[in-house]
Amino acid sequence: MQNLEAFRQLISSPRNIVITTHPKPDADALGSSLGLAGYLKKKNHRVQVITPTDYPRFLHWMPGNDEVIVFNEGNEARSAAAIEGADVIFCLDFSVLSRIETLGGLIKNAPGVKVMIDHHLAPEHFADFEFWDTGAAATCQLIFELIEALGELSYIDPSIGECIYAGIMTDTASFRHPNTTKKVHLISAELIELGVQTNKVQRLVYDNQTEDRLRFLGYALSEKLVVLREYHTAYFAVSTEELHRFQSQTGDTEGLVNYGLSIEGIVMAVLMTEREGSVRLSLRSVGDFSVNDFARKHFEGGGHKNAAGGTSYLSLEETVQKFIQLLPQYKDQLS
Ligand code: 5GP
Ligand code: MN
Repeated sequence: MQNLEAFRQLISSPRNIVITTHPKPDADALGSSLGLAGYLKKKNHRVQVITPTDYPRFLHWMPGNDEVIVFNEGNEARSAAAIEGADVIFCLDFSVLSRIETLGGLIKNAPGVKVMIDHHLAPEHFADFEFWDTGAAATCQLIFELIEALGELSYIDPSIGECIYAGIMTDTASFRHPNTTKKVHLISAELIELGVQTNKVQRLVYDNQTEDRLRFLGYALSEKLVVLREYHTAYFAVSTEELHRFQSQTGDTEGLVNYGLSIEGIVMAVLMTEREGSVRLSLRSVGDFSVNDFARKHFEGGGHKNAAGGTSYLSLEETVQKFIQLLPQYKDQLS
């Protein structure tokens, strides 16, 4: 963060603070929010975490989860009041206000000081304080670095540390993605030193699924995976009916797309999921092919070079057709 001293000043006395993150928060979004909340509470601030939507059950173990307000579950007025009354509003793991829709509008018009902390490409510069670094593996890494820069690592107890570790662990796919730098390992080592039980976090996040989810994974891999060898591309298209058949809950499709990328020779993998009124796309790539550019250009989305998301307002079938028809123009880049 450039103006660190001004930021230090800002949080030097107790404030009303709101922390928010992107819709369908993942472990990095929720972990950075609850990790930062834990730290700020220790500094005697009054902190409210507000998520735009619900999030997977396998994140509910995070300390502070019980106090989170889910905006779109009938908490619109309560959230608006908290945002209006906040001295400081943190926006974590996203950097374009329109991404959080109504909530973004409320934040834009709120009088509080805005702080954006994120590692995604192409931010909108709406905040008074920015800590934005696309070189960071996770927003949780930036939360750690911010607390470190403030000289307050000793505030990180195992509860805060486990939230931070969870985000780093999942955004690097357990230290497998190319974003796994020396720094990532050093921070993880530091977190272990501060009391984080890494194996516990691994089990809470990855070994905590329902039987339905595991069976859905089996079904998707066996029946829904399409491999287009010519374009080094693999995709899944999953309908609402199929999601219902497996009692699918928020987060149940997370990670599925990566199986497409685990096939030898595959450069891009995409999961298309039919939602109410739209289709969500989750895109992954290896190497130079930018799914951020692809999602931005064709599916109103974005993210990182090798991991991005997008939305289509066509039907599921039409979305699949549109996707397939786009591939020939990327043939060279995909080989
Ligand atoms: P996922 O496929 O896991 O939902 O998202 C992959 C990455 O892309 C995440 O870092 C996520 O925050 C980002 N992302 C997902 N959807 C969107 C979107 O619609 N717009 C932008 N800018 N980023 C997205
Ligand atoms: Mn992230």
